[in-house]
Amino acid sequence: MSGDAEIDLGPKCPTCGEPWLRPTSLPGRYRCLYCMRRFELRSECPDCGSHSTIARLSDSANLSCRNCGGDMLRAI
Ligand SMILES: [Zn+2]
Ligand SMILES: [Zn+2]
Repeated sequence: MSGDAEIDLGPKCPTCGEPWLRPTSLPGRYRCLYCMRRFELRSECPDCGSHSTIARLSDSANLSCRNCGGDMLRAI
């Protein structure tokens, strides 16, 4: 069977590196189902200071900075 070589498991956890980061019911909050750590999406990039508009309950497309690709997640 020819199929998708890449399975989209989801965004990777910055702490344990496992692709089990999932959004919670709170906007901008994520939780890793593997190590059970919680993260929140920053409103500005720690690397370049670029602001990102946090889309409410968005998909995982903007977990990283659009400008420099920096990590927008902060452990809480
Ligand atoms: Zn994790
Ligand atoms: Zn940036």
